[in-house]
Amino acid sequence: MRNGHLSHWMSRDDLDIPATVPLDRDEEVDVAIVGGGLSGLWTAWALTQADPTLSVAVFEAERLGFGASGRNGGWLSAKPVGIRDVLARQHGGRAGVLEIEQRLEESIHDVVDVLGAQNIDARHGGWMQVARSASEQNRIENYLAKSRSWGVDEGRLRLLTAAEASERVNIAGVTGALYSPDNYCVDPVKMLLALARTVQKAGVRIYTSSRVDTIEPGRLAVGAHTVRARRHVVVATEGYSSRQRGQRRRMLPLNSAMLVTDRLTGDQWEQIGWAHGDGVSGAAHTYFYGQRTPDGRIAIGGRGKPYRFASGVDRDGEVDQHTIAALTNLLADLFPQVPLAAAHAWCGVLGVTRDWSPFIDNDSSSKILRVGGYAGQGLTAAHLAGRIASDLILQGDTKLSTLPWVRQMPRRWEPEPLRWIGAHGLYRIYSIADVLEARAAGPRTSRLALLADKIAGR
Ligand SMILES: Cc1cc2nc3c(=O)[nH]c(=O)nc-3n(C[C@H](O)[C@H](O)[C@H](O)COP(=O)(O)OP(=O)(O)OC[C@H]3O[C@@H](n4cnc5c(N)ncnc54)[C@H](O)[C@@H]3O)c2cc1C
Repeated sequence: MRNGHLSHWMSRDDLDIPATVPLDRDEEVDVAIVGGGLSGLWTAWALTQADPTLSVAVFEAERLGFGASGRNGGWLSAKPVGIRDVLARQHGGRAGVLEIEQRLEESIHDVVDVLGAQNIDARHGGWMQVARSASEQNRIENYLAKSRSWGVDEGRLRLLTAAEASERVNIAGVTGALYSPDNYCVDPVKMLLALARTVQKAGVRIYTSSRVDTIEPGRLAVGAHTVRARRHVVVATEGYSSRQRGQRRRMLPLNSAMLVTDRLTGDQWEQIGWAHGDGVSGAAHTYFYGQRTPDGRIAIGGRGKPYRFASGVDRDGEVDQHTIAALTNLLADLFPQVPLAAAHAWCGVLGVTRDWSPFIDNDSSSKILRVGGYAGQGLTAAHLAGRIASDLILQGDTKLSTLPWVRQMPRRWEPEPLRWIGAHGLYRIYSIADVLEARAAGPRTSRLALLADKIAGR
């Protein structure tokens, strides 16, 4: 089994990687973007759409696909990003939150239109969150009721019976599921590379192996070279931001691990179903998510080891054996009808703010804009965030630039060792809560899990 090498998606021989070079001289542009993931590239795209005369350059420390954008589960979904109640307290309020959700729904189709469904292996299924116990069933029903109170109608989110859910994907022990049609499953690396080619065509220069060492108003230092930004600097480094000055405790790099199986046979797919291109996730406290890959495998992800001391990040995504065993056992538990072998495991980090909600923080005096904090849901969010960032930079007050995501970065995470103890302690509590709920076999969510939610601020 392969381990690390960034991801299954990044490890193929047939990737169509656009030509990029390291920065080898001083450079002057209108907008300089730090980070070549989806956030940086969608911002570049939106800027050049709004003003094709603008000069824009992206500086990526490693190579395209090194960050979460090259390692994720490939759900391009319109699920709410962040916590509704938190965002409703920001400028724009409740109406702004609903407006964002409407925009996310538009975004998933925009992404596919701009990049081309066939170029990114986009399959329009939906997303389905399955419940496998009385407490999980109760939780999805409560979530549905809460969503209704936010005006989410039957067309966007509904309950499936156990039989309806199993007809879509035959998971053992399902009691019911939440289902939304607002999702495509994509090949995330094909998506990132298609976007990179699109922005290059629009005139954006992408520099790889070009780590930005210093970020100042109107100026970046990249090794021995200086980049002047006449109008704005954008920082789009999400889970990798903690090494920057003043950013150590702003975003927690939360680890997520994934695994793909060997290719399944036609007979095995018949036993599993999963013919609709749905993204599938669980309702246990120890969350999982997955898709049927375009090359006929199951890709499944979960938390694994949640966090490295002092906001550390991995190099090439190698996963510990304990996490690989946990994901393999989970697959056997979900699909006991077929033997499934793990082919490749990897991990990556996503950026989480202290209030679990995203931000587009534009400092109009320094002209430095920071974007991120999607807490594991950046595929669609990065597209919308890029459009908002572009409006803030080029136009000031617009409908997009006054939405609740536009705000100062929330308060800092706790200092170490509290941060490490907190992250690991909470994930341990969540797994104990799952065990307790299974034992109790009742509809109530464990008090431990409720306490953990409160401490985590979720
Ligand atoms: C395992 C996993 C599964 C996920 N599954 C999903 C999913 O199914 N659906 C979904 O919506 N979201 C998912 N996510 C989250 C999603 O991948 C991210 O939210 C999104 O990719 C963030 O994009 P980004 O461009 O902001 O950050 P990244 O993709 O992390 O890009 C940041 C880039 O900045 C670069 N960088 C950092 N420091 C510097 C520097 N000093 N100079 C230059 N460059 C620098 C990094 O090398 C990196 O390439 C998942 C994440 C992980 C890890």
